[in-house]
Amino acid sequence: MKKNNIYLLIVFIVVASFVYFMNNQHINLETQTKAKVVVEEESDFKVVKDGVVKIIKDDEELLIDSSLFTDDEKRRIIKNVKYIVEKHDKYLYQSEQFNNDISDFDSFFNEYEYKDNGIYLKHTGDYEVGFSIKENQSINFVNFISDRRELDYQSIDILVKEIEVDPNKPMVALTFDDGPAIYNTMEIVDKLKEYDSAATFFILGYRLDDKAEILNAIIESGSEIGGHSYDHKKMIDLDENELMMQLTLVRDIVKNKTDNNYEIKLFRPPYGAIDDTLKEKSPYPLILWDHDTYDWKVKKPKKIIDNVINNLNDGSIILLHDIHQFTKEAVLELIPMIKEKGYQIVTVSQMFEAKGIELKPGEVYYSIHKIGE
Ligand SMILES: [Zn+2]
Repeated sequence: MKKNNIYLLIVFIVVASFVYFMNNQHINLETQTKAKVVVEEESDFKVVKDGVVKIIKDDEELLIDSSLFTDDEKRRIIKNVKYIVEKHDKYLYQSEQFNNDISDFDSFFNEYEYKDNGIYLKHTGDYEVGFSIKENQSINFVNFISDRRELDYQSIDILVKEIEVDPNKPMVALTFDDGPAIYNTMEIVDKLKEYDSAATFFILGYRLDDKAEILNAIIESGSEIGGHSYDHKKMIDLDENELMMQLTLVRDIVKNKTDNNYEIKLFRPPYGAIDDTLKEKSPYPLILWDHDTYDWKVKKPKKIIDNVINNLNDGSIILLHDIHQFTKEAVLELIPMIKEKGYQIVTVSQMFEAKGIELKPGEVYYSIHKIGE
């Protein structure tokens, strides 16, 4: 029997917030008791590199409060909490008090905790609702970390496979957006390696939590990593701060996670959306494509294969998405097929270098033939 005012509900959710509504979320319902958060001086905290960024202060947890979240993030968090509560407890969800209370973010969440590489927000009132998001889903939190990150990148020599490119033979650049994806990307990298080929992976910063191994594997195989923003925002909709954050954060994360402190040199804006501000601000060449496979739409490996193999052009940049199983299946077959047709499979950087075209920051490139607007 549920009682209105004595209520215990702890919902724990770790979710990439923008994919949340696309149903990729992981929800666990658990009850637990927690120690009160000890609030410390910010300056006492130390950030260290350990696969993921961690914040440590005498083994104690980090201070956090609602100022870490932008209004937009607050709205999103409230929406998510309501969604979870609706799923697990209709009664609470419909109650007027709950709806009143949760409408005020700052007074609703009155405890914060840093744990398991996430921010844990908690309401300790008439009901208990806890909500956890990844630390890197709060822009302010990311800045907080960046400001305090120890700049002690230590480079490790890694063996990078050399892919030989013959500038006089035809070539294409396969490009993979939105990854990396644990299994798909590795399989594609292995196949590329097997065929002395390389590709460019335009990755998303938010996906990199446990992906140091994949990033290093991409680099070691001779392939290339480019930035595709932190969390797939349309760059032309952003204010300047967020624009810069989306441009540079993925670079910082990759640098921090890779053995040789890899520097991203290319950027592909999500949705191919570009405006003058982005061109002006981007420290990177903006790499689009001249051959869209629409892999995400056609979904069938056979169709993707036909689309690519029947439309090969020297100097072409081909758009694919390694997050999809069907794309991976197509690509594993395509790599030998493309080679069979006499084309080299190279990175975007290699292709432009081989063709003697300099890639410049803020300029837009579709293929080696089509440059500019
Ligand atoms: Zn994308």
